[in-house]
Amino acid sequence: MTHRLTGCCHCGAIGLELSLPRPPEAETVGACQCSFCRKHNARTVSDPRGTARLTVHEPAQLQRYRFGLAASEVVLCRRCGVYVAMLMVEDGRAWTTINIDALDERARFTRPAEPRDFSGEALGGRRERRKARWTPTELVGWPEEGG
Ligand SMILES: [Zn+2]
Repeated sequence: MTHRLTGCCHCGAIGLELSLPRPPEAETVGACQCSFCRKHNARTVSDPRGTARLTVHEPAQLQRYRFGLAASEVVLCRRCGVYVAMLMVEDGRAWTTINIDALDERARFTRPAEPRDFSGEALGGRRERRKARWTPTELVGWPEEGG
């Protein structure tokens, strides 16, 4: 059974859909220890057996931010400041890990967040790990690299 969740940034410029193979109560919750996620105290979810869709309703409000090895980028709303997801794009395909608190049903993710520290990882290994663990994602209405 697929569990379909929706969400968006605070002002609605960036919409979010996530389909998970397990109910949110059973999903693993991550607490990435990267410096960006810690400043947001973010809890994230990804499931390689699920699917996600990020829809940009107002392209002018899409802010993409890279840091560190720049293997992925943060998706933020320029207007309301909400951190929506971490995104990796490669060969026209996209994967994300979603900021749980941008989802409408954030309260259903009741498992304790597991700290994850990937800071010692090399770039190649990082991209392969994300492809294996992050959620395949469709990008709709993106100004570039859309799909
Ligand atoms: Zn917004």
